[in-house]
Amino acid sequence: MNYRHAYHAGNFADVFKHIMLARMVDYMKRKEKAFRVYDTHSGIGVYDLNSEEAGKTEEWKLGLGKILDANPPPAINRLIGPWRDAIAPLEESKYPGSPRIARNLLRKQDRLSLYELHDEDISTLKAGFAGDFQVRVNHLDGWLVPGAHIPPKEGRGIMLIDPPFEDGHDFDRMIDALEKARKRWAGGTIALWYPVKKRSHTDEWLDTLKGLRFPDLLSAEIYIQEPWSAGVLNGCGMVIANPPYTLRDELQVLLPWLAEVMHQGKGWGHRIIDLSNK
Ligand code: SAM
Repeated sequence: MNYRHAYHAGNFADVFKHIMLARMVDYMKRKEKAFRVYDTHSGIGVYDLNSEEAGKTEEWKLGLGKILDANPPPAINRLIGPWRDAIAPLEESKYPGSPRIARNLLRKQDRLSLYELHDEDISTLKAGFAGDFQVRVNHLDGWLVPGAHIPPKEGRGIMLIDPPFEDGHDFDRMIDALEKARKRWAGGTIALWYPVKKRSHTDEWLDTLKGLRFPDLLSAEIYIQEPWSAGVLNGCGMVIANPPYTLRDELQVLLPWLAEVMHQGKGWGHRIIDLSNK
């Protein structure tokens, strides 16, 4: 396990993922009934943008930095509002990871289950949530969650799966995770983040997902430049099973704006693909 998220915190892919997560959590709050968020690949929870790692790549300047400098129209302000609310309590030089974003949006009745396998990162994560009775931090393989730790006793909730994609097998593991999750928690909202490098590769994978015949499955992507090269993170996406019913319409407004604000080269854009069994 060599991947360290500290190099990438706040980059365009992080901002995309966290805004999507915040929209899904916000939707859950429409009902009083408690829900649970699972974060199977949590990272350390909060990142220092002045760290040596962040300084080496400065990736956050082209993601978070661009969004903070933008002047969004009211419709966008409304859509990114929950994400802004989640990042606001942090010091200016800090950017939250998905666990802290989710935690900052929970109500008293809601719960968060975190999983992280890295020996050092788990200590940082545990320290960040010490004494927080709404959060359970697990030093476990996050890929066990879809087959063993769901459904939550709350019945409702979201599972974010955000692996490092470092050994070439995470696309296959995602398919396996979705199938397991469907069997154990048919109504759960399952969100899988994925990198977009070369579009033909992404399309092959999305075709396989379509073949799973999920009743309600979509993918949302943004590109910061043309997705033609296998070696470069040209974009990213999220596949969502059982998305909030409001999300498709929201994405039509949100994704073009995110792509435009964070684009870096020619061929930038977005896609929303319905992968549902019709
Ligand atoms: N979700 C985080 C966020 O948005 O702030 C970032 C997660 S980062 C992309 C992936 C994390 O997964 C790394 O911290 C890595 O140590 C961890 N990891 C890798 N393999 C894992 C596994 N099998 N189970 C749990 N965590 C794992």
